[in-house]
Amino acid sequence: MSIALVTGASRGLGKSIALHLADAGNDVIITYNSKQAEAAEVVAKVTAAGRKAVALRLDAGDHKGFPAFADRVKTALAQTWQRNDFDFLVNNAGVGVNAPFAETTEEQFDLLMNIHFKGVFFLTQRLLPLIKDGGRIVNISSGLARFSLPGYSAYGAMKGGIETLTRYLALELGPRGIAVNAVAPGAIETDFGGGAVRDNAEINRFIASQTALGRVGLPDDIGGAVAALLSDGCRWINGQRVEVSGGIHL
Ligand code: NAP
Repeated sequence: MSIALVTGASRGLGKSIALHLADAGNDVIITYNSKQAEAAEVVAKVTAAGRKAVALRLDAGDHKGFPAFADRVKTALAQTWQRNDFDFLVNNAGVGVNAPFAETTEEQFDLLMNIHFKGVFFLTQRLLPLIKDGGRIVNISSGLARFSLPGYSAYGAMKGGIETLTRYLALELGPRGIAVNAVAPGAIETDFGGGAVRDNAEINRFIASQTALGRVGLPDDIGGAVAALLSDGCRWINGQRVEVSGGIHL
């Protein structure tokens, strides 16, 4: 039995990743930032599926809070699993900011930087001693790191940074047997960016028209893919970017 820590799993992609991992026989530690009740529902669903789950609060942009968060993870591991490590880290938590390059403010840039890049960098660094040798890390990137759409210059550039970081982590953590990959979703129907992909019919149609499989993505498209990537059969995949987009902008 493996334990996966999934950040930002109260909603959207993280929730689906946690539920698919539980279906595949893993226990989970999920994090939420503001939506404690939603996180408790995810814990209840995982428990109903016969796996163990714990929800912890994490603000991925509050780097000074990471040592205390790591302590809470340690406590949860000891109390719930009588273990001092976990197997899989999925860096998923994030927010969407859509602004043209010329109008992007330093505040918007810093918000994205703190959560999407600096947060992933230093949270992973802080949790490293708790990740089991032979474990795995998945960083959630975005299709927007490969192709460009107006309004995502800061976000897309930071996701590009995450993909580069993924290769460095894979190289430097190799001696511990830890494989590290990036999963890059296409546009998926979640609350992300105000739920535009789900709720704005024009955007939804545009994305579908650019996608080989002819529709936008759903959270389960990503949850299933990440769970598959963390299955034993994918253990030799390392340092890769896997786009999960139904084939957008091919
Ligand atoms: P979502 O539905 O808005 O969910 C965001 C999740 O992240 C929630 O669990 C939220 O917690 C958590 N979160 C937000 N701010 C946080 C913070 N400061 N610290 C810690 N956790 C925080 O978004 P999503 O679509 O699932 O996105 C998840 C990841 O996929 C992100 O990294 C995003 O960049 C990436 N992605 C999304 C899409 C897409 O089209 N949806 C495409 C490509 C990549 P609360 O519920 O507690 O607020």
